[in-house]
Amino acid sequence: MDEEPTGLSRRQLLGAGAAAAIRTVLGGTVPSAAGAQGAAGDTAEELVLVNGRIHTMDGKNTVARTVSIRNGRFAAVDGNAPARRPGTLVIDLRGRTVVPGIIDNHNHIVLMGNRPGFHLPLENAASIADVQEAVAARAKAVPRNAWITTIGGFHRNQFFSPDASPRLPTLAELDAAAPDNPVYISESFMGPSTTNRPGKAFFERQTPPIVVGQDGSIAAGPQTTGRATLALRQTLLTPEERKRGARDAMAYGLSLGVTTHLDQGAFQSTNTPSDGAAHEDNYTMHRPFLALHDEGKLPARLRINFLHQDTTPDLPTLSERLKHTFKFFGDDMVRTGGIGEFLAGFGPSDPLAAAARLVARAGWRAEVHSLSATDFQQEIDAFEAAHAEYPITDLRWVVAHVPFITEPWLARLKAMGGGVSLTGWRYLAGTPEQNGPPFRTILTNGIAVGMSSDGMQIAPMNPWLHMYYATTGLNARQRLINGGQQITRQEVLKLYTVSNGWFLREEHQIGSIEPGKLADLAVLSDDYFTVPDEKLKKIRSVLTVVGGRIVHDARADGR
Ligand SMILES: [Zn+2]
Repeated sequence: MDEEPTGLSRRQLLGAGAAAAIRTVLGGTVPSAAGAQGAAGDTAEELVLVNGRIHTMDGKNTVARTVSIRNGRFAAVDGNAPARRPGTLVIDLRGRTVVPGIIDNHNHIVLMGNRPGFHLPLENAASIADVQEAVAARAKAVPRNAWITTIGGFHRNQFFSPDASPRLPTLAELDAAAPDNPVYISESFMGPSTTNRPGKAFFERQTPPIVVGQDGSIAAGPQTTGRATLALRQTLLTPEERKRGARDAMAYGLSLGVTTHLDQGAFQSTNTPSDGAAHEDNYTMHRPFLALHDEGKLPARLRINFLHQDTTPDLPTLSERLKHTFKFFGDDMVRTGGIGEFLAGFGPSDPLAAAARLVARAGWRAEVHSLSATDFQQEIDAFEAAHAEYPITDLRWVVAHVPFITEPWLARLKAMGGGVSLTGWRYLAGTPEQNGPPFRTILTNGIAVGMSSDGMQIAPMNPWLHMYYATTGLNARQRLINGGQQITRQEVLKLYTVSNGWFLREEHQIGSIEPGKLADLAVLSDDYFTVPDEKLKKIRSVLTVVGGRIVHDARADGR
């Protein structure tokens, strides 16, 4: 929060008396999970935010000045600031804009947390110089000689102006930024990739050597990028490293104001070079997040979908999952969510229809994704066939992304109680032909709808990039590709907050700033509602609160 962030000096904060909360503010430590969950008896503390423009996203779009938080939930919204007493931490927001904690209803945070090396999100870099600056800053923050890696989540389109031809950074450019740390930057699922001199040396030591160009380039494909990613996974990943990665991934989300992630799984890893950025072991990859939760160190909420891609009619893995896993099980920090973003793979026996029937019979949530102009039709057909036998009206089944969905199909999905999850992933590499989703058409239809990133392989996690795309229709090269389908800032913020409660089956307790709801919010660096379009991309959270605890504080980082 700039120079004098809160109106309270550090000394005054110390005098406020809330020892635990203050330690959190100053030390940047993550609070206990019990506190984050508001467990009874954990805290008599109260966090009060005053003098804000607090967009509650309640049914009346109330903008409040004050909010108080007790026991992990919002206690009072608006009205006079309560009298200060011991155990109360008061933060003067000085007119800052506050929004409910962002809920990302479809992403791959678990993949991001299991990346080898110190992951560096490059989704916000707008030039090669930005990449160099980010790499250099990361090099300062990690151990000497530690790997700095970016595997997915960005596109070279971001780095160049519309008239230049885009490329990845070169070996020389990466060496200039980080001469001592090996660097590996890999686009999308399977490259192309690039590395610096220490990285090149590592890849050329593999048997047989992985081919790296003089300029650091590593070609797309299994024998090059696939082998490079696999070598890093096999060399670097330990349970402790995965836990560190999981914390880093969630901390990055919190710096953007994302307080809840609905994870959509991974392609099942094979431990061969054909594994790309989106492959992991679906049966073990949640462990680092669950371990953090056990230790009381999970700083943001995680909801888990299980991804299945059986190709035979007996659906072996899906059947076992439905028999042996509790649905909607967990607590306010971690909870299982459903089956998705695949219910089945592809095969001659139409496994999708059989899988949908099985999931409906078991009473689980289901989510599939649509990328083409026809796939949603087969999916909605399969949903309808399952629905005829085992009604899914109350199960909240979802089709995600839907770039080309049409009104009649929306109506059929809506009639079954289904919903659609929208995303701005076309921002990175979309064109006027490869565009969508039709935001305006879908909002007009009135079907249940929410917003997500689909990060972290083919799309960024940063919700402000997705909000930019939804409201402007412009891609990363500032080309208008989704004209006529733009929605307003208020509308897309609603999709990313209160509307997303429905996708978790938790609309009663998450998504808006109202008394009794889980106290998740973000204090923003800029006024989301008034900044120019291009500045939307730069919005960050300066203070993020999850369950009443401060879990991200840009002030503690000296910013
Ligand atoms: Zn996805």
